[in-house]
Amino acid sequence: MIADRVALSPTTLDEALELRAAHPELSVVAGGTDAMVGVNAGRGDLVGWLSLRRVEELRSITHDESTVSIGAATTMQSIVTGLAARLPALADAARTVGGPQIRAMATIGGNVTTGSPAGDTLTPLVCLGAEVELRSVAGTRRLPLREFLLGPKRTALRADELLVAVHVPDRGPRQVFAKAGPRGAMVIAVCNIAVVLHADGAGGNVAVGSAGPTIVEAGDAVGHLLDPDGADAFAAAVSAATRPIDDVRGTAAYRRHAVHVLARRAHRWVRDG
Ligand SMILES: Cc1cc2nc3c(=O)[nH]c(=O)nc-3n(C[C@H](O)[C@H](O)[C@H](O)COP(=O)(O)OP(=O)(O)OC[C@H]3O[C@@H](n4cnc5c(N)ncnc54)[C@H](O)[C@@H]3O)c2cc1C
Repeated sequence: MIADRVALSPTTLDEALELRAAHPELSVVAGGTDAMVGVNAGRGDLVGWLSLRRVEELRSITHDESTVSIGAATTMQSIVTGLAARLPALADAARTVGGPQIRAMATIGGNVTTGSPAGDTLTPLVCLGAEVELRSVAGTRRLPLREFLLGPKRTALRADELLVAVHVPDRGPRQVFAKAGPRGAMVIAVCNIAVVLHADGAGGNVAVGSAGPTIVEAGDAVGHLLDPDGADAFAAAVSAATRPIDDVRGTAAYRRHAVHVLARRAHRWVRDG
């Protein structure tokens, strides 16, 4: 056992994994932009922190011909500046997270691990078929992000694991992200959407956030995405796939309407390239 309210700050991933195994009672923190909101609200029983901020290995972005690998502690700002050409939908999603101060601290790993259906990067990541890499002292496992997300703020992360990276297949440049909120910036999404049209024009993917218990995929709508005149049918099919609720940010009916509007626009944007 360790003293109350301790903060451990390893500098290597191996050290972080050892500490995670030895001290499961500590709360993991990366940028702190979700974790500190919880502390300020008095949620949870805080014993102390295991901080990932000094683990440089978790901050790298690497790529080969088919995949971009993003270290879990990569900030939103680094994604905006580093991945606009390769993963434009993800970069656009990262650009909408909070304001500049939040984007300088907030990490992709924190967004993914929080598992909120309104987490902006989750929608393009699910749409692109991303996988998460989870590691503990016992070993490494990879699973599709859509399987990692179990429900609102519930994930498949085990108590001894850290998220170390997100691996994103390269689907080509025809991808868009759009978000609706009560104002144009610095908002948690009422809903958001990501749409990918594959480079050969023969397939695509659609995902919607903040319109169900986790990210919703609208596979039935893809046929209409491939049809140049299919914008209205596409929007209707995407909206019908959602399972929104009424909450403080919007009613279910408003969300379905907003998804319809975003989907119709996204159909044009992604087809116009
Ligand atoms: C003012 C404000 C505005 C915001 N606006 C948006 C917005 O527009 N869109 C949006 O999506 N989010 C928004 N957020 C939420 C937040 O900024 C993001 O979810 C952010 O990506 C969280 O990353 P972080 O590094 O700060 O996570 P932290 O707060 O450090 O951690 C969040 C959770 O993830 C866990 N965790 C973090 N990294 C790892 C890891 N590598 N392995 C295992 N567990 C880990 C932590 O234990 C904790 O449970 C906002 C927050 C604030 C305060």
